[in-house]
This record gives sequence, structure tokens and C-alpha cells, in this order.
Amino acid sequence: MALIVQKYGGSSVGDTDRIQNVARKVKTYRDRGDQVVVVVSAMRGVTDNLIGLAKAISPLPSEREMDMLLATGEQQTIALLAIALHALELQAVSLTGAQAGIVTDGVHTKAKIANITPKRIHELLDQGNVVIVAGFQGETMEGQITTLGRGGSDLTGIALAAALKADLCQIFTDVDGVYTADPRIVPTAQKLDEISYDEMLELASLGAKVMQSRSVEFAKKFGVVFEVRSSLNDNPGTIVKEETNKMEGVVVRGVSLDKNQAKVTLVRVPDKPGVAARIFKALGDAAVNVDMIVQNISHGGADGPGATDLSFTADKPDLAKARKVIDDLRREIGFGDVIATENIGKLSIVGVGMKGHTGVAGRMFEILANEGVNIEMISTSEIKISVVIDLARAEHAMKAVHAAFID
Ligand code: ASP
Ligand code: MG
Repeated sequence: MALIVQKYGGSSVGDTDRIQNVARKVKTYRDRGDQVVVVVSAMRGVTDNLIGLAKAISPLPSEREMDMLLATGEQQTIALLAIALHALELQAVSLTGAQAGIVTDGVHTKAKIANITPKRIHELLDQGNVVIVAGFQGETMEGQITTLGRGGSDLTGIALAAALKADLCQIFTDVDGVYTADPRIVPTAQKLDEISYDEMLELASLGAKVMQSRSVEFAKKFGVVFEVRSSLNDNPGTIVKEETNKMEGVVVRGVSLDKNQAKVTLVRVPDKPGVAARIFKALGDAAVNVDMIVQNISHGGADGPGATDLSFTADKPDLAKARKVIDDLRREIGFGDVIATENIGKLSIVGVGMKGHTGVAGRMFEILANEGVNIEMISTSEIKISVVIDLARAEHAMKAVHAAFID
């Protein structure tokens, strides 16, 4: 008999048919004699709808009330799933995050889990129940309802698996697992049998949004091995775990493309101490999420400071905000033109195997050169190489890189 924590996302519980499908899936595990704790998200679209209702009334609703409102989404699903399990003649009880013993800090709309006391879950399991827990929510020590940030049901699932010392943690979604690339762009993309936490984190932050990043960080910290798999079939999924020697044999685990970035170039910025600090401090204060930064070599400057071109990328939705910050600084700092473009893509290769292999960057750049793709910016980490390229050529470049490293 195993203790299993299963998490089902919004699309897996998107309507009553899907909820009944989840109930049947849970039943197959229960029939084997396993103890099952199920974490669910709100039905697809529900959280967005609730946010829309609040925003229709006020542009800046109180965060405490937003948590009160959004927590109702998951509360619908837990009750509906319990009803569906009862219809299959299984014993099942639904619990809110608070009832499940999930205690968080008081940072409304993005609370952190402080601790979990799963006493009630254990009691209910021991009485033969399937225990259904509302994802994405908890309660402060003072009894205030909180939520864990968008996509937070993943975190509830992982954290409960850790607290309950579950034998198995399964994250059910609408894809078969983690792929070497987005199969909608790269038809030859393959489902991975396993991937390391760090690779998964890089791929998630690069736009391959299979799971909430915080939940993967949490899993890494507490050593929770989990499986990402589809709720719509019985195919085995992708196991996410600490890296092994075997994993390091593969240089490139995945290729991702982020089309949600924009690039801003400041021409002829004075090359003297404190300028970059002023620019990026101001962007930070305006909550512009800056990603890559490239500064050119200085030109001129025989009599006084030289000048340099400075480029950075930021999330596309932040571009207008970024432009305003830059325009406000222009007179103060004194630089030339500002060139902004949304027509870029950030193409990245990720793999823990890069740590032990040389020449990977050179090979990637050669592949791009052979395709006539110009590289505008480069950044690297121990397990990742990213380039900014023309958006119009980005999908083509992604296929070429995937073909060379993975196919
Ligand atoms: N319902 C929440 C959201 O849409 C949490 C989740 O789905 O994981 O962000
Ligand atoms: Mg989700």
C-alpha cells in the first residue's frame, strides 16, 4: 500500500465530464489499496474570471479580498470531485487549505507556505477516505485566507507530498510530460523519461510553462521526486528528480523559445560609473522584469567619458513601462536614440551535461550561422545558452538547433 499525492490542474478538471474522469482515475489507485490525497486547481478559466469580476469593479482591489475571492475557485472543484467520488461509491472528504493544515505567511496573493500540519489528512486517510485538498490556498496563523501565487496548486501538491512523506507524487496535466521542445513548433520533439530539477527550472523560466517554478524549487529543496503526466491517457510521464550521472551524458536536454520578450537599445550612453546602476535601478523600481543585458565596448572619449550602446530585454507587456522609464532618464543621463523592438525571440538550449562538455556554444552558433540567422545577444549559465534572434526566423532556428542536438 502506497501513499500517493496527485495534483490535477485546471484543464484536467475543466468541466463535469473531466471531473468524473479524474474520479475514475483516482478510483483505480484506490482499488489497488493505495491511500490517495488529491490536490485540485480551479476549473479552467475560473480564476481568470474571478479576477475579471474584481477588476470590473476596481482597478486595484484589496489583496486580502482577492484571496478571499480566488480561494472560492478551488473550493468548487474539491466539492465537485468529492461528489463525483461518492457517485462511484468511494469514501471521500474535501478540505480547504486551512482545514488541511496549510499555514502560510501573511503576504496576500503570493503567500509562502510556513508549515503544514497534516494531522487531519492522516486521520481521514486512516478512516478509508480519499482526501481532496484545495490547491493554491492556505491560512495565516491569524486565520486569514491566503493564496500562493498563480499556478500555486502545483506548490500545494509538492508541499503536501513532502509533508506527508508520500511514496509517489504525480502532477496530472493536459500534456504527456516534459518534451525536448514545444511539439507544436518542433514536430520531432520527444517526451523525456526524466529531467533534473535544474533543467526543469530553466525550461520553465524560459517559457516552457509546464509547472509553476516555485513548486519545482520547493521539490528540489525538499527532494520530492515527482512525475508530470497526462490526465487524459495512461501513458507514463516525465520523472523530475535530482540529476544523476546518466543525465550528464546528454548535452542538451531541451530547446525552448521565448517569444514574450522585447529588446531595448540605448545608443551612446555615457561610459562612466553609476550610469548602468541608475538605469536598471529605475527599471527595477518600476517593476520592469529585465532579463538579458549587453553592453558594447566603449567608443570615442579622448576628452571625457566615452559612450557605449546598452541593450536589454524585458517582458513584452513591460515594454511601454520600460520606455517611459528610459525616456524620463534621457535628459538626466544624456544618451542618444532609444530603439525598441518586439520582434525578437529568445532561443535557449538547456542541459546539465553542458557542465562537462566544451564547445557547445560554438556548435549552437555555427548551426545558426549555417541557417543565416544573426545573433543579437548572448547569455549563458552553467547549464544554459540563450541567444536573442529575429522573431521571424526564430521557429526555423529552433527546429535547426533541435535537429542538430537532439533528433
Ligand atoms: N487556480 C489558480 C490559478 O489559476 C491556481 C492553479 O491553477 O494552480 O492560478
Ligand atoms: Mg495550473
